[in-house]
Amino acid sequence: MGSQRVYNFSAGPSMLPLEVLERAGAEITNYQGSGMSVMEMSHRSKVFQKIFDDTKASFIRLFHVPDNYRVLFLQGGASGQFSMVPLNLIGRTGKADYAVTGNFASVACKEAKKYGQIGLAADSGDKNHTYIPPQDQLTLDPQASYFYYCANNTIYGTEWQYVPDTGDVPIVCDMSSNFLSRPVDVSKYGIIFGGAQKNLAPAGLTIAVVREDLAGHELPYTPLMMSYKTMIDKDSMYNTPPCWCIYMLGLVLEWLESKGGVEGMEKIKHSKAQLLYSVLDDSKLFTCPAQPGSRSDMNVTFRSVSEELDAKFVKEATAAGFTNLKGHRNVGGMRASIYNAMPVEGVEKLADFIKAFDKAN
Ligand SMILES: *Cc1c(COP(=O)(O)O)cnc(C)c1O
Repeated sequence: MGSQRVYNFSAGPSMLPLEVLERAGAEITNYQGSGMSVMEMSHRSKVFQKIFDDTKASFIRLFHVPDNYRVLFLQGGASGQFSMVPLNLIGRTGKADYAVTGNFASVACKEAKKYGQIGLAADSGDKNHTYIPPQDQLTLDPQASYFYYCANNTIYGTEWQYVPDTGDVPIVCDMSSNFLSRPVDVSKYGIIFGGAQKNLAPAGLTIAVVREDLAGHELPYTPLMMSYKTMIDKDSMYNTPPCWCIYMLGLVLEWLESKGGVEGMEKIKHSKAQLLYSVLDDSKLFTCPAQPGSRSDMNVTFRSVSEELDAKFVKEATAAGFTNLKGHRNVGGMRASIYNAMPVEGVEKLADFIKAFDKAN
């Protein structure tokens, strides 16, 4: 069944573990003797409630979520959170700080300006977002309702290697593209959120981990569906949740557990990324725009000496079974997204391909 699959380096939606897809396939018409597909069942049914509860419990266990946080399964994408975060949080002081280290943080920052006064804590746009600013370069306002950053910059291929120290100001973090790829001390955060379609599940599910005391202070005109309080009070089931995606998340989390959880995944993903970076650094042809120390373990961006050669690389790679390696238009060049589900073997083969291409050109 899986024999003709390609190594898919898509930035998102992206690869899911083959075992998960096969299991979902086997269960697609009749989920565990229920006589129906998970896609067809009431979200209020006992069968689905168990899927929901088990999935949430797995997430809490694997991500080590403390008791005073709530895990929400939402819709609207990570982009929906760009509005939901300020709507719910900025009312406390009317101000918030944003560190802009890439496209998605920039979009989030722009959106937040509709709701309050936004301070630019950092902006790596001066060097086309090739680096993550260190702590001593952050401009922090102690009166901010929250500090916002994006943990992994999917397009530029940079990743924060530290959690900023913001004193008493709650930290809000977009972890869409490195969710559950490494252990996180959740207690250092106010809110962590992410679209599931990169590391965790099919598109359509957004996960938010919300410190309980931060909910319930939304601006008065906050849409009902954008209030964390609404969703906390109804355990993410104010309305129909993305049932199928939640089920798929459960399968992915089971798979993740079999790989040693986030602790196991951290080692695997780091060695995958190191392999690619070392081959690229050793090559004559390729360079990585992201600065050492800021490089992402999830999205490896690189380019050759010319656009023509980049195009040739992408074309030949596709023919060899490595797809979706073209870089984002903001950056050009190439990007290999190597999320949790990308097998080590896929990265090893890509590394060999890069070496061979380097030699031949
Ligand atoms: C993909 C991505 C988004 C956008 O996610 P949607 O679910 O499509 O809204 C936001 N932030 C980051 C870091 C991403 O990688």
